[in-house]
Amino acid sequence: MASQIQSSNSRKMNIAIIDDAKVNAKLIAAYVKKLDNANPTVFTKASDGLTYCLEQDVDIILLDYKMPEIDGLTFIERIRAVPEKSGVPIVMITSVDDRNILRQALDVGANDFLTKPVDEVELTARVRNMLSLRAYALELKQMATIDALTATYNRRYFLDEAEKEFLRSRRYHTPLSILMLDADKFKRINDTYGHASGDIVLSSICDICRSELRSFDFIGRLGGEEFAICLPETIQQEAMQIAERLRTAIENASITTEKGDIRFTVSIGLTVVDCADSYFTDALERADTSLYQAKRNGRNQVSGLFVE
Ligand code: GH3
Ligand code: MG
Ligand code: MG
Repeated sequence: MASQIQSSNSRKMNIAIIDDAKVNAKLIAAYVKKLDNANPTVFTKASDGLTYCLEQDVDIILLDYKMPEIDGLTFIERIRAVPEKSGVPIVMITSVDDRNILRQALDVGANDFLTKPVDEVELTARVRNMLSLRAYALELKQMATIDALTATYNRRYFLDEAEKEFLRSRRYHTPLSILMLDADKFKRINDTYGHASGDIVLSSICDICRSELRSFDFIGRLGGEEFAICLPETIQQEAMQIAERLRTAIENASITTEKGDIRFTVSIGLTVVDCADSYFTDALERADTSLYQAKRNGRNQVSGLFVE
């Protein structure tokens, strides 16, 4: 599932260097390349740099002021207009020695300002400091949003993201399906194989779901062994097929432990967001009711509940 946040220490830190003078850009790239974990990318066309910074996970932007196409100040304004990019540090690097420009750059959202010719020690020290703060901020964000055991969204973050998806489906009149999934007789798995094996089963259930889902679907751990899945752009019939595919894949999986092979099943409740729903949680409640129907009917099955 591509939408889950990647750990800041599991990937290199992406440094975007935007300068229309190739020689300058390459020199800066050569300096920052010496930093641990740095992955610099050079752009001599500001529009290409802007696209990269808006679409990719960029960790710091080193930006020239005077560029023919988009000047540095406009570039910063475009980045800062996107809320998700508010935490990306931007350093403006320019040969223009003008306090007025420095003030304007800081005013529109630059975090730091350096003058050319760039001093290698100064540049690398500042970039290193900003990257270490950035890595720390990403780690905190991960801890606040991702469940440590299963790497799915935690309850609060899932509900926030699902509400956004709910509003999007409202605005664009696109279907949105929701699954609630609960491990069957999970207490017995813990009692038979131990809590640590139970943990492995839970993370396996999520791994299986991720491998069966599309990149834009997302999973949240709502409680102990209970998960919700958002399926954007998905109609009832398609959601039913996805749910059945998940159920079968989980039923067919097996985990080998010292105490034997563990087989497990899940029950799934399904609903589709309706125009009568005021909030995402209205539809989620329906998926929950339908999950309990699946449990009552004997578990290891998919049950659906829809607005007439
Ligand atoms: P049902 O089919 O009705 O859902 O039965 P169940 O046993 O799965 O449901 P119940 O709610 O009675 O028990 C859930 C169990 O899940 C109890 C709890 O100890 C276990 N559990 C919750 N969170 C975790 C966890 O993080 N790790 C492990 N190993 N077990 C957990
Ligand atoms: Mg259960
Ligand atoms: Mg439960």
